[in-house]
Amino acid sequence: LSINQLEEARRALDAPLFADLAGDAQVSFEFFPPKTEKMEETLWSAVQTLEPLAPRFVSVTYGAGGSTRERTHATVARIQRETAIPAAAHLTCVEASRNEIREVAESYWVAGVRHIVALRGDPPVAGARFAPHPEGYASAAELVAGLKEIAPFEISVAAYPETHPEAANAQADLDNLKRKLDAGANRAITQFFFSPDAFFRFRDQAAAASIDAEIVPGILPVSNVAQTRKFAAMCGAAIPPWMDRLFEGLDDHPAARQLVAATISAELCRRLYAGGVRHFHFYTLNRAELSYAICHLLGLRPDANARVEAA
Ligand code: FAD
Repeated sequence: LSINQLEEARRALDAPLFADLAGDAQVSFEFFPPKTEKMEETLWSAVQTLEPLAPRFVSVTYGAGGSTRERTHATVARIQRETAIPAAAHLTCVEASRNEIREVAESYWVAGVRHIVALRGDPPVAGARFAPHPEGYASAAELVAGLKEIAPFEISVAAYPETHPEAANAQADLDNLKRKLDAGANRAITQFFFSPDAFFRFRDQAAAASIDAEIVPGILPVSNVAQTRKFAAMCGAAIPPWMDRLFEGLDDHPAARQLVAATISAELCRRLYAGGVRHFHFYTLNRAELSYAICHLLGLRPDANARVEAA
């Protein structure tokens, strides 16, 4: 056993039972902009279900190559207007000039949006190599610096516990994260992962690289392994063999799949909590129930004020 494995085993033994969690965790939720009216209803019902948990913020993704520019804006602006949750807009610099980015960022500022999740993004054609727009930003670090010149946004950036697929190596990827934070980002949100040890190792390496900003784990509650495998292949996340074993034979049992999915993510969160994590970012895929169940197990309960307002 390596030191890391021993450390991980110790943390697992030390992990408090769900019943003993103090309820002091904070959460944020990520959504994608809906394409149809039906999807809009689903998203909105998810937002309303999760709002009473008083998330620190909710964020809305930006489609590849800026393809959802208007829809992302409309969704973020609606959340900002109609709920008490601070809304964060994802923004990428793929296929956009600096002027276009300025326009988008200024329209967010005018709409009262103060938080941007700043990303380089991926080319719209899957598998293509990123090439910066001739008048654009070449990386997320440059985008962060550009946004800071436009307005004093709060900025989150991406981090990769299992290393971004284009990075020369893990250290180069950490150096890049440090550049983004030094350029003015406030926190990092990680790509999804399934091994708590991968997160802890990354957090230790970040600390050794003098990164002291908050690193928030991105939690993907998985109920569809095939779909997750596709995402994982694109972003360099590992799907552990036990994941397949746990979902084996459940194709015709959707309810059991949901229970298994909640158990896996809740267990991951419990271990992370034991390792000191107090902010969890959920990739909700616009569905509330799994994330809600995991938050409940983490000890979160609807905020009394939010309940009164809803009534
Ligand atoms: P960067 O930080 O610029 O890094 C990209 C790669 O280039 C890395 O390998 C990095 O190590 C390397 N690199 C950068 N600068 C240098 C340099 N100077 N020298 C050497 N190497 C360098 N995508 C979307 O399209 N829309 C979204 O809404 C979206 N939301 C996301 C949210 C989160 C929390 C995460 C984790 C990812 C999200 N993504 C999204 C995916 C993201 O756009 C891709 O992972 C993309 O490939 C990299 O974006 P980045 O911001 O990490 O890029």
